[in-house]
Amino acid sequence: MEKNETAVVTIDDIGVNGEGIGKVDGYTLFIKDAVIGDVVEAKLMKGKKNYGYARLMKVITPSPDRVEARCAFARKCGGCQIQEMSYAKQLEFKAGKVRGNLQRIGGFSDEKLDEVMRPIVGMDEPFCYRNKAQFPVGYRKVNAPDMKDEMSGKTGADSRVSKKTALRTVSAEPITGFYASRTHDIIPNTDCALGVPVNEEILQAVLKYMKENKIKAYDEQTGKGLIRHILIRYGFATKEIMVCLVINGAELLKSEKLVEELVKIEGMTSITFSKNTRRNNVIMGDTYKNVWGQDYITDMIGDVKYQISPLSFYQVNPVQTKVLYEKALEYAQLTGNENVWDLYCGIGTISLFLAKNAKNVYGVEIVPQAIEDAKNNAEINGITNAKFFVGKAEEVLHREYEEHGANADVIVVDPPRKGCEETLLNTMIEMAPERIVYVSCDSATLARDLKILCEHGYELEECMPVDQFPMTVHVETVVLMSRVQK
Ligand code: SAH
Repeated sequence: MEKNETAVVTIDDIGVNGEGIGKVDGYTLFIKDAVIGDVVEAKLMKGKKNYGYARLMKVITPSPDRVEARCAFARKCGGCQIQEMSYAKQLEFKAGKVRGNLQRIGGFSDEKLDEVMRPIVGMDEPFCYRNKAQFPVGYRKVNAPDMKDEMSGKTGADSRVSKKTALRTVSAEPITGFYASRTHDIIPNTDCALGVPVNEEILQAVLKYMKENKIKAYDEQTGKGLIRHILIRYGFATKEIMVCLVINGAELLKSEKLVEELVKIEGMTSITFSKNTRRNNVIMGDTYKNVWGQDYITDMIGDVKYQISPLSFYQVNPVQTKVLYEKALEYAQLTGNENVWDLYCGIGTISLFLAKNAKNVYGVEIVPQAIEDAKNNAEINGITNAKFFVGKAEEVLHREYEEHGANADVIVVDPPRKGCEETLLNTMIEMAPERIVYVSCDSATLARDLKILCEHGYELEECMPVDQFPMTVHVETVVLMSRVQK
């Protein structure tokens, strides 16, 4: 196929990024937004020797698994990758992805996987599940010649210019929304389908404050303007709301006017701002200042309370997090006599969830602020048998084992996507806990790590995928490994 050539393609597979895959005369095409089972017309945008990336031009025959996206911007926004796939199909795809990785990378047989895999747990209502949202603030930008064309009604190739040079600010009204996929152009939308409905009200209140008080939005190109991002957190259990404005300066101008608007919203608990004058992609600043109310909101998972500040890491889908943690707790099989290590513990969410059923829980986390939160969370829950360490899991566990004779009956790990360091797995194997509970956000590295554990005296007992992120291609998995070699 040549570049810009179009073809009719039957989509017969799903790629790792949720794209549809189909073949034209043996040549593989990856087509974003095409759903498995569709027959589509696609245009080749970028061709390699054996495969190419094509753009979906038209759905000719829709797949039985194709649904209408709830959000009008589903294709433009990078946030959701598979909103046009039915939720049942999404779950099947995710369960299949976990199983496929365990088979290909982990080397587990079909029979073994039939025995250990539990059905994926999806959500009853797979929208509005996120308790955290970060909306960029800016101005509408359009291509300058296009704008002229809009006015003269002229379109066509001759109006095309380099986007970089032609982009310019056209509207004096600040907007908020999301970045168009792979760019930093803001597309106005205050109604993200994954966020809570109150986000909309909050965003409108912030925009009103900006307009009425002539507060400027930040402009990435010039580095000027004040308001960069709006962070919103919502406690599903407590209905408490936090708003934190990320600003390009030391003071939030006329903040009392902002407070006046925001306090009208029921549940408003914390209003802060975070100074970030760096010209890079990091959203939050390093610190924050209180403007009104508390510095934090409280939320609950099960009967454990967590205080969450603007900079705390906290799971974004509290409904499914509870499912995940309850499974982790079940897999840990605690009787009250166990020493449990919770590695990569963040703000101690899993540690505290397990503490009431264990003798001792030891959490390890690399981010010092998260450990401060973990200690505080232990205190507000009256939990006294949890101890927390700042440092790399691989270093802290090794040190505590070698130098202080630490022992473990159960080890829980919840690493970032890259999985566990091999040195950490080695220490775990030496410590020989009865059970290892592995919580994973990347089933490829999970499979790699499970293979190592299986080669050193552990057996895969049970594996359950949990859909923490409906409409996206991500899937969380919780696994129980038991020690077989004594
Ligand atoms: N278990 C927590 C957080 C899991 S996210 C929860 O459920 O909320 C993974 C965590 O691992 C992050 O908090 C990250 O800061 C931390 N981390 C990353 N690399 C690490 C390392 N080498 N050692 C310890 N913690 C690490």
